[in-house]
Amino acid sequence: MESELLTMNQLPAETKDGKLIHLKANIEVKEEVDSVLSHGADGIGLFRSEFLFFRSGDIPSEEEQLETYSQILEMLKGKPVTIRTLDVGGDKLIPKVTGGYEEKNPLLGWRAIRFGLHEKKLLKAQLRALLRSSIFGTLRIMFPMVSGIEELDAVLEILKEVKEELRAEKISFKEDVPVGIMIEVPSAALTSDILAKKVDFFSIGTNDLIQYTIAIDRGNEKVAHMYEPFHLGVLRLVKLVVENAHKEGIPVSMCGEMAGDALASVILLGLGLDEFSMSSFGIPRIKKIIRSVSILEAQELVGTIMEMKSFKDVDKYTTAYMEEKF
Ligand code: PEP
Ligand code: MG
Repeated sequence: MESELLTMNQLPAETKDGKLIHLKANIEVKEEVDSVLSHGADGIGLFRSEFLFFRSGDIPSEEEQLETYSQILEMLKGKPVTIRTLDVGGDKLIPKVTGGYEEKNPLLGWRAIRFGLHEKKLLKAQLRALLRSSIFGTLRIMFPMVSGIEELDAVLEILKEVKEELRAEKISFKEDVPVGIMIEVPSAALTSDILAKKVDFFSIGTNDLIQYTIAIDRGNEKVAHMYEPFHLGVLRLVKLVVENAHKEGIPVSMCGEMAGDALASVILLGLGLDEFSMSSFGIPRIKKIIRSVSILEAQELVGTIMEMKSFKDVDKYTTAYMEEKF
């Protein structure tokens, strides 16, 4: 079975009616790149750069970051690599970075882009390293946990400053590195029409988006059973994000766990996603499903489930649909 799936590597993730989907990998450390390539990924859809900061020792310097980013870009040989800026805080505690700041509601607190905007020096060093690495391959920069236009404008301003500094120092970088944001906060999804005008791509982070939409702390065993990707609240947000992005002509990826969930894959196709990013091991399986369905069929499934009221019904219907078809 594994070998059958691995033969998928040479084939494109193309639906029966010819829509080409980009299947990319999520990575946390550069040692995963071999697996990315051997599983036929079209690139890296999410490099969680915070794992560089988790490693022992000091906070990585601009030069150290540059080395890692450039190596990854070189190893990918021109395939796109989306690197997300530091997503610290919440469930990702790195005391040497946040200074051990303790908060009552870390998931609603000082994390991700909020931290970066506060610790501007750290964010600027990372952006310098990212831009400098851009000459080694095809880089895309992505910002985590953006909740609205104010944060996006602020971080784009910092990016502009960093570019001006590099130009003044005559340090080379690619001027046209695409810049995108994670959509993982409901307010970002609901205002995605506004945000889409300012960025080159979206990537939906369902791990957080589900948690924040249903108000479920997955770590809390009393409520974890309510954490449900097929909640109509979540599906409606995904639909809205894709529609708003496509109106502005920008592509939408998904890099949360849901993107690698075979049960969800036809629904996601029908909702119009352009790119799925997941653990590289999941790629051949999702590719096989994509290659055996048409967008029309997927849209029909979406049409049916979006009329339902309970995630239990969506789940039951989709499970039966997938069992019959695949
Ligand atoms: C997500 O929230 O879906 C996501 C991909 O980000 P992370 O899991 O790193 O929070
Ligand atoms: Mg997230």
